[in-house]
Amino acid sequence: MHHESPIKRRKSRQIMVGKVPVGGDAPIAVQSMTNTETCDVAATVGQIQRLEAAGADIVRVSVPTMEAAEAFGEIRRQVNVPLVADIHFDYRIALRVADLGVDCLRINPGNIGREKRIRAVVDKARDLGIPIRIGVNAGSLEKDLQKKYGEPTPEALVESAMRHVAILEGLGFEDFKVSVKASDVFMAVGAYRLLADKIDQPLHLGITEAGGLRSGTVKSAVGLGALLLDGIGDTIRISLAADPVEEVKVGWDLLKSLKLRSKGVNFIACPSCSRQNFDVIKTMNELELRVEDITTPLDVAVIGCVVNGPGEAKEADLGLAGGTPSNLVYVDGQPDSKLTNGSLVDDLERLIRRKAAEKELAEKDIIARG
Ligand code: SF4
Repeated sequence: MHHESPIKRRKSRQIMVGKVPVGGDAPIAVQSMTNTETCDVAATVGQIQRLEAAGADIVRVSVPTMEAAEAFGEIRRQVNVPLVADIHFDYRIALRVADLGVDCLRINPGNIGREKRIRAVVDKARDLGIPIRIGVNAGSLEKDLQKKYGEPTPEALVESAMRHVAILEGLGFEDFKVSVKASDVFMAVGAYRLLADKIDQPLHLGITEAGGLRSGTVKSAVGLGALLLDGIGDTIRISLAADPVEEVKVGWDLLKSLKLRSKGVNFIACPSCSRQNFDVIKTMNELELRVEDITTPLDVAVIGCVVNGPGEAKEADLGLAGGTPSNLVYVDGQPDSKLTNGSLVDDLERLIRRKAAEKELAEKDIIARG
């Protein structure tokens, strides 16, 4: 049931963040950020590895001091995923992490200070093929813009971003991406829509300081969902006051829901009601955890009864429609076998793994045949 997404994406120029293309026709990249102490190399490497395992394409790491820059170099050596160094003001840190192998610098050129320093960072980035992310945030808007607009507005965020853009373009540097984040959904969405018409660089989307796991997920899904439906956005971060692994999972779910990317099991499950012939919620909770490691895209329907069961189950790669005395399994839209409630989760997990392995083999076969 993997229909193509009907979303027509904004055309942006492509940049490379390490091995990951961002913009152009590249898949929308999922990002997250470490929240460990960067100088604690072991803890940061551990967290980056967990983020990568969850599907993060790019990970950002704060580098507030020269000591953290040295730690960053060690971290860079120990992980595979492209790393963005988050730097504020201190151009020497930017120069150092560039030498230590950073894949992208998140630094606002207008905040670096004297032109000589800006030029040093931009020249180094150009020489080493490192892109820059301009990151404007409603919470740290320049004082003169706050005064001019009275309060943060979409126009103020975009004016701030365009100042940084003008500096890079003035130096002939075009390999950058831009974010204009705000915690207010309307402000962020408004700013990104304005910016999308002004530049052709990739845009990194985020609703900043969105909130905790549930409220932040909803806020991010509304804001980023609106933009992604418009075709805007080349890379995303879901900012949550939660384990950053959750940010990656939510990011993927958001892109999967818009059919912009596919990975792992996409569950279609009914909310359950008194007609259910097995415990849908318990089954789903257990199954989701058990098959988290599967990366092959697979649609699996878990439906409690025959009201909607056969219809949904037939559309999926694998479907289960509740029934009495036994539940009916559909494979590729065809009735296949029956399962009783006794070992339902074990049986479903086995069927899901078998189907995923089959699909993976079939895809490899297609690739091998060219
Ligand atoms: S599919 Fe059946 S069990 Fe599930 S919510 Fe609908 S009527 Fe209830």
